[in-house]
Amino acid sequence: MLNVFLTIDTEIWPHAKGWPVKALPINKSSFTEEIAADIYGTTTQGDFGLPFQTQLLKEHGLKANYFVEPLFSEKAGASNLTDIVNLIQNQGHEVQLHLHTEWLSELNDPEIPAQFKEFIHQFSLDEQIALIKKGIHNLHASGVQNIHAFRAGSYGANLDTLHALLKNDIFYDTSYNPCYLEKNCDIRTNKLLLQPAEIDEIWEFPISYFQDYPGHRRHAQLCACSFYELKTALLDAWKAGWFSFVIVLHSFELIKNRGTSQLPLPDKISIERFRLLCNFLSTNQDKFHTALFSEIDAQVIPKEQPISPLQSRFFHTAWRLAEQGLGKLI
Ligand SMILES: [Zn+2]
Repeated sequence: MLNVFLTIDTEIWPHAKGWPVKALPINKSSFTEEIAADIYGTTTQGDFGLPFQTQLLKEHGLKANYFVEPLFSEKAGASNLTDIVNLIQNQGHEVQLHLHTEWLSELNDPEIPAQFKEFIHQFSLDEQIALIKKGIHNLHASGVQNIHAFRAGSYGANLDTLHALLKNDIFYDTSYNPCYLEKNCDIRTNKLLLQPAEIDEIWEFPISYFQDYPGHRRHAQLCACSFYELKTALLDAWKAGWFSFVIVLHSFELIKNRGTSQLPLPDKISIERFRLLCNFLSTNQDKFHTALFSEIDAQVIPKEQPISPLQSRFFHTAWRLAEQGLGKLI
């Protein structure tokens, strides 16, 4: 049985030009439009955000890990975070911690750094410990009882981040993205991780990827892969006896044209991929189990890494390129 971790980064981005380098206007107190688009996925043709996703997953008997960014609530209002947490938990899914340190210049808390940096790895170990503690505090205050896992905003973690998680009693991290190493992600390991690895008492669950053409890695993100690429990678990982497969998407990944003066539009290609993925996972529950971080028994995670990465098939990648071309037209 392959553990498929559906991980959904849940966050808002202010509709303000130049943010976060340029601070938000002093008089900006409402984030209604951002929350409608980025969390609820409100479009001209219906809502395709969290309510839609959580319901569709539930109908298919699937579970997801929502990595919720909680710093925004200090600026946008704590009740917004509580609403998000309730929505996720009431549908049987799980809330985990995601942090975007871009928010820091907007907050006013002497316990955490006052200036934003793009990645959490740019902060000292003590600062990272304080930042993660702050995120946990906000999630607890909004109704999350236990937090088991973390993902850094933009995958921007390093080994200090793992240490900071340990200090905060979080034992699973999924910030390691092989497609972003030496860019955003600064978790340095002796060899490339394809499967979970124990690093300084933390289990690191790498984002899954496949090689789509020689020398190029494509991570398992809904908007970045065709359904057939994802399906093949899942089946290949299952056939190879892998322990886990981590898929990424966002709260706003099923809509497009966010942050403009008009209402966003549904992203029909991503919605169809999401439906196909749910259907595939639901009809193949003899092979795939949508796993939650709270359910993992660390004792049974294999310690060895696979030798070879997953590979896509040429015609599936060609299909994605055709889909992307089509997506520009509709
Ligand atoms: Zn994020």
